Amino acid sequence: MSEVRTRFAPSPTGFMHLGGVRTALYAYLFARKNRGKFILRIEDTDQERFVPGATEVIYDTLRACGMQWDEGPDVGGPCGPYIQSERKDLYLPYAEELIEKGKAYYCFCTKEELDERRKEAESRGETFKYDKHCLRLDRAEVQRRLDAGMPYVIRQNAPTEGESRYNDMVFGEISMPNDTLDDMVLIKQDGMPTYNFANVIDDHLMGITHVIRGMEYLSSTPKYNLLYEAFGWEIPKYIHLPTVMRDATHKLSKRDGDAYYSDFIDKGYLTEALINYLALVGWNPGDDREFFTMDELIEAFDVKGINKAPGIFDVNKLTWFNANYIREMPFEDYLKKVTPWFDKAFDGMEKKPDYRRLAELMQGRTEVFSRVPEMVSFLRDMPAFDNELYFNKKMKTSAETAPQALDMVRPVLEAVSDWTESEIHDRVMEAIAASGMKNGAVLWPLRIAISGLANTPGGAFEIAYLLGKEETLRRLDASRKRLA
Ligand code: GLU
Repeated sequence: MSEVRTRFAPSPTGFMHLGGVRTALYAYLFARKNRGKFILRIEDTDQERFVPGATEVIYDTLRACGMQWDEGPDVGGPCGPYIQSERKDLYLPYAEELIEKGKAYYCFCTKEELDERRKEAESRGETFKYDKHCLRLDRAEVQRRLDAGMPYVIRQNAPTEGESRYNDMVFGEISMPNDTLDDMVLIKQDGMPTYNFANVIDDHLMGITHVIRGMEYLSSTPKYNLLYEAFGWEIPKYIHLPTVMRDATHKLSKRDGDAYYSDFIDKGYLTEALINYLALVGWNPGDDREFFTMDELIEAFDVKGINKAPGIFDVNKLTWFNANYIREMPFEDYLKKVTPWFDKAFDGMEKKPDYRRLAELMQGRTEVFSRVPEMVSFLRDMPAFDNELYFNKKMKTSAETAPQALDMVRPVLEAVSDWTESEIHDRVMEAIAASGMKNGAVLWPLRIAISGLANTPGGAFEIAYLLGKEETLRRLDASRKRLA
């Protein structure tokens, strides 16, 4: 059996769509699983859509995700160049070969003429399909026009009768009546190949054995197969992937900020969590495992597990994965990752809380890094709160019992000279024991009085420590005043 070769062939748009990341992932996993090669090819023949820096976005994203390609633009390989615009001169001879074989032809129809005919067809309620107008020109006329330098495109000469069939490894047998195939453009007026042509030539020249791509290409594939057949080339195996959707009826969208890899990284999702979850959007390992490292994915990956139904990308599920990954991170990595978010929360503050201690308290509570600033902002500004918060049934506390607790603890805190967490803890606990009050009856109101929140990372001692002595006392006094 020959070596498995898969490719990821993105167009450099400046962003990596999550659907694209998942396509790359499956192509990568399939290649690795089969000890084959994973190739990166940049499909930039649409020069109008050129975006500076867009190829770097692709490289950076794939590398960040741990999908290193074996052959591609910057690493080279035996089938280069791997950027289509750098290959532009090699396509025309293939198109000319098809013309020789009667499988393609020159077309001189102008855009205006085509628009006119499209309108006519639409007014008859038909969908426009190129009518092979220029196929009827005789050789001499074609030559005359070429010699005169008339602009042209080259079109495929698709059959109009019979049926095309092929097998897709996910969708099974696909068949299409040939009269639905249009004579697609292979070479554009500017001499560049279309995607429709270049993908065939390049997949062949690059020895691609398995074409893995989005299902939007399912219905064009018969036309590609006709090209392979015309050249006498072996047709690759196809693995078309169902679309990644937000829900049953909505695509992921740029506008909603949930379409691109960078949207999620900017919000503070971890690449590992995203990759883990994306692998499962549209693929199922056949058991109930949910957590996978890249190596485990390679091991488990099987085309049989790819679903035909659209993959639903559920942000809540991703968030759940993310929280798990964050919890399992080595603490030093967490500290490094969370630091810029703390900086954001405490920007301009003179005495910032102890980041290391705060990180310890936050790691188990962090679902997404972008939510961290809000979660810790109470250390910067005391939230306005309702005295109802003092009520706690279990601790038997309320706004009525709180003043006594706060009055007891106030001088104790003031007397703490070495403001460490353990000093605060020991002094307050001694005082509580001496007072005969219950721990909760003091600690709950204290925590409310200095945080203003029902839920906080850490309890009264940790928060007092993080706030510092001065701020703790200031908040305590202010809150006490609001209790008659
Ligand atoms: N350049 C195409 C795209 O970005 C690639 C499709 C394919 O993988 O063949 O959609």
